[in-house]
Amino acid sequence: MISEAMENFSPDLTTFQLASNCIPVRGAVRTLICDLQRQIGRLIPSTFYDFIVSIDRRPLSILEHEHSSADWAVLRKNMAGLISEGYAFWTPTSHVFVPMALDWESPARVTNAIIDIAATSTHDYKEIVGQLGQIGCLAIQFRSFTPLSLKNIHEICQACNGSLLRHVDMILPFTIEFTESALNEFCSQNPLITRMTIYSSPYSKRMTIPLTPTFIDFELGSFTTTSCGQVHEKLFSMNLHHVLESMSFNNCLNRKLSIDAQGEIRNCPSTPEKYGDSKLVLLKDALKHHEFNKYDLINKDHIEGCKDCEFRYVCTDCRAFVKSNDGVSANNRVTSKPSKCHYDPYTARWN
Ligand code: SF4
Ligand code: SF4
Repeated sequence: MISEAMENFSPDLTTFQLASNCIPVRGAVRTLICDLQRQIGRLIPSTFYDFIVSIDRRPLSILEHEHSSADWAVLRKNMAGLISEGYAFWTPTSHVFVPMALDWESPARVTNAIIDIAATSTHDYKEIVGQLGQIGCLAIQFRSFTPLSLKNIHEICQACNGSLLRHVDMILPFTIEFTESALNEFCSQNPLITRMTIYSSPYSKRMTIPLTPTFIDFELGSFTTTSCGQVHEKLFSMNLHHVLESMSFNNCLNRKLSIDAQGEIRNCPSTPEKYGDSKLVLLKDALKHHEFNKYDLINKDHIEGCKDCEFRYVCTDCRAFVKSNDGVSANNRVTSKPSKCHYDPYTARWN
C-alpha cells in the first residue's frame, strides 16, 4: 500500500491520514492517540483532534484556503509533529487505508479469575482450577492475606499444572523463606507463574527470572482486600486486547469470576453480590445467575467523569470502590467514577 501511495503521489491530492492502528480517544480537553501497534500514546488538544475529524480526507491544497495563514501554520506544525512521530502520514490515496476493526470477542465465558486466600480458607484448588478450565479461563490471580510457604505455593501450582491456564499471578506477604535464590529456583520450576508480588517486604526491588517472562516485585507496602482498584498513569495499558475490550466492555469485570477467602463466588472479591459457595455451586452454574453479567457492558463510556476522559480505554475500571455523583458515598455503584482516581479530565490535571 505504501508503494502504491508513493507512485500516485500528487501534491494537489495529498491528504492527512492517521495510521489505522492509531485510535484517537477524545476527552474533554485532550485527545489521546493510542498507537496499538507500538503500544504508545500521544496527547493532543481536543480542538486539534476536531480539526483532524473535520478535514476527513480533504486535500490540503483546498484546506489551506479555508484558514488564516497564522492558523494554517500552527495546524501544519501539529500535523507534521504527528507525522514525524509515526502516528500519521501524508497520502494521495487515503481511500485505500481502511479503518481497523474494533470488535472484541473471546470464546471463553471467563477469561480471568481472582482467588483470595486467608488463614481460614479451605479451597479445593484442583477442583476450582478444573472448573475454571471448563469455562475457558486462561489466567488466575491468587491473592493471599496470610503467609504461605513455598510448599503451600507449590501445592497450588500442582493444581494448576495440566490445566488450560497460561498465566498465574500471585500476591503474597513476605516470609523469610522468600530469598531471591529460593524464588528464582521455585519460579524456574513452576513456569506457569508469570508474576509475583511480594508485599510487606523489607526492601523494594524487581527481579526477573532468567530465560522466562516472569518477574517478581518486592514491595514495602502492605496489601489488603481494599488495596485493589488503584488508578494511576503507570497502570495504563495500550495493549490491543485491553483497548479493544475496553471500548465495548467493562475492562475489569467482563468475563471475570472471583472466589473470596470464604469460598463465596463473586464478580470480584470486593463487589457485594454473591453467587453461592464454590463448594456447593458449580462455577458454570453461578454464571447463569441473572445478576452475574450486570457489569459486563458498563464500559468507561457510561461512567461519570470517565466518559469524558481521554484515558478511558487505557485505564482499568473498578466497580467495587467508587464515588457517588456527589463524590462521597457509593450510591450509584454501576456508573460512578472509581474512587481511587485523582484525575480530572475537565482540567487535564492529576489532583
Ligand atoms: S472491580 Fe475493583 S476491586 Fe474488583 S477486581 Fe476490579 S479493580 Fe479490583
Ligand atoms: S477519569 Fe480516572 S478512572 Fe476515569 S478513565 Fe480517566 S483516569 Fe481512568
